Amino acid sequence: MMFDSFVIPFVAGLALLLGILGWSFIRWIVMLPAEDKKKLVNGFFSYHTFTAIKEIVSESLLHRKIFRTNPLLGYMHMSLAFGWFLLIVVGNIMAEAYSDLPVAPPYLAIFFRFFAPGEPHFFFSTGFAIIMDVLLLFVLSGVLLAYLKRARSTLFGLKKTTRLKKYDRFALASLWLIFPLRFIAESLTSGVHHNGSFFTGTAGHLFAMLLPVELLEYPAWWAYSITLGIFFVSLPFSRFMHIPTEVLLIALRHYGIKTGKQYTSFSDVEVHSCSRCGICIDKCQLNGNLHIPDTQAVYFIRSVRQNKTEEKVLFNCLMCGRCSENCPVGIDAPAIRLAQRALQAPNQSTAYEYLKAQPHKKADVLFFAGCMTHLTPTIKKGMVKILQAANINFLFMDEDISACCGRPLVLAGQYEAAKKLFDHNKEIIYSSEAKTLITTCPICYKIFKEDYQLDIEVLHHTEYILRLMEQNKLVLEKKNIRFSYHDPCELGRGSGIYYEPRIILDTIGTLVNNTEEGSDSLCCGGSIANTQLTMKQRDTIRDNTLKQLTGHNPDMLITACPLCKKTFGKATDTHIADIAEIVSRSITTNIHKKNTLTAIPEISG
Ligand code: SF4
Ligand code: SF4
Ligand code: SF4
Repeated sequence: MMFDSFVIPFVAGLALLLGILGWSFIRWIVMLPAEDKKKLVNGFFSYHTFTAIKEIVSESLLHRKIFRTNPLLGYMHMSLAFGWFLLIVVGNIMAEAYSDLPVAPPYLAIFFRFFAPGEPHFFFSTGFAIIMDVLLLFVLSGVLLAYLKRARSTLFGLKKTTRLKKYDRFALASLWLIFPLRFIAESLTSGVHHNGSFFTGTAGHLFAMLLPVELLEYPAWWAYSITLGIFFVSLPFSRFMHIPTEVLLIALRHYGIKTGKQYTSFSDVEVHSCSRCGICIDKCQLNGNLHIPDTQAVYFIRSVRQNKTEEKVLFNCLMCGRCSENCPVGIDAPAIRLAQRALQAPNQSTAYEYLKAQPHKKADVLFFAGCMTHLTPTIKKGMVKILQAANINFLFMDEDISACCGRPLVLAGQYEAAKKLFDHNKEIIYSSEAKTLITTCPICYKIFKEDYQLDIEVLHHTEYILRLMEQNKLVLEKKNIRFSYHDPCELGRGSGIYYEPRIILDTIGTLVNNTEEGSDSLCCGGSIANTQLTMKQRDTIRDNTLKQLTGHNPDMLITACPLCKKTFGKATDTHIADIAEIVSRSITTNIHKKNTLTAIPEISG
């Protein structure tokens, strides 16, 4: 019988791991909200399962996204994950080809050299030996890089890396030992039995000349098995839980499930999928500009997993989305943070009960300025001038009296109170019978678009201005001005609007590229989502961002958010304007002129 007592640590560890994984996965799925469960059932029997498998291969095994941003780091992850996966797959095929049993025991593939020590002849045996040696070498190259990364993360272009917790240390130490020990055990057996291929065979030959291989062979297999067992047992409690959980995360995401306003078991899946790769640390301006060490997505997610989220971490975030945009696992850390804020929010049942909606006049288009636009009246005037010039039948929804759109409350986690404002504003919107709602504030835009569930179209003013230009209802004059454009977080990463403002600006002037723009753009520092930063800290973020935006001496700095304009306006000599202002100043009265719109401009970020 193919059995030896040294396989027990491996088998016991594997059984425990599978038990914990099975329990966790079932619990997460059972605890999904009813709506998400429906999505899961519908999605499972659809093509989404195939697209999920495709992503699991490209991201969980090949680590394509990490590869694209950091090839060395990508190779390290790929060689460990894909290499190990192939060792298991090819090892099992080889074990089945060798074994006389109907199904080979699960440990045979792992300890094959021990159980087939001589020169076994079976189908493709020499080929298998070569392939297994190539794969082992491939994985070992990843292990070597992992050692290097821990010792000198700067070699990998990472300024900062995460600290290890107790279980992480166990898991990492065992992971680092698994493959060197496999190499040693296989080589020692090769040294005794004169088999193995170019790698373990050659090493075995050398070992046999230098070491008492007969004596060392058996303890080496024990050490390999114990190390595997330790890794399996510590995996569910360590960062390495991300390896199996990411597979579930990708599948659920393909079925349309995401973290919404409430923290659900899907959020828990996201939290357990964080590999603590640390990519989000360098991307966060709270680290880069302010050296705040504990609030970035990776630390916040870890605190959620450990049930130790403190207010100073929870509310110290700009909600800029630079972390989620760059996360190779696609974890929506800002959404998880909002859901966690909602858990700590005060009772909101009686909030805003005094609000009474006034019936509004009828119009085709509603313009909602929002508080920040009211605080920057030149934007408001610019937008009104644009609407008048284009002859739009519009109504200025919050010209005199208004209620907030509710986004600041949502950012504070007070979703129930925000819903009262939604209802109030909805009554006004529907009473106007307008078909389109436009807003000059990306913060308002996001909430109207995503949370109000309006059955009329919601447009940011950049989208609407471009539409008017395409219809030649608004004809603009080209000027000899060089613009630098700042993508507001809520408009770019938050709502995916990058091209509309650029096409408009390229029509009326010349747009210059910035080093970090588009999905890579920097936050202005004015975020209303952060309650922990001092004014001085905000100023530091602002100054760093301004330096980048004005480094090439543009004639004007343009943004598309009243809050960004207000934040930058105080600290630069460069003339700064909202896109509504510069457009309103470029309107031509020449009725024979038509717009010449440029092709979609390039974004270098
Ligand atoms: S949140 Fe994403 S980027 Fe940050 S450490 Fe986790 S996996 Fe890496
Ligand atoms: S959303 Fe922005 S500020 Fe918040 S953790 Fe992510 S990168 Fe940092
Ligand atoms: S998001 Fe800000 S600017 Fe927009 S309405 Fe609400 S408070 Fe005012």
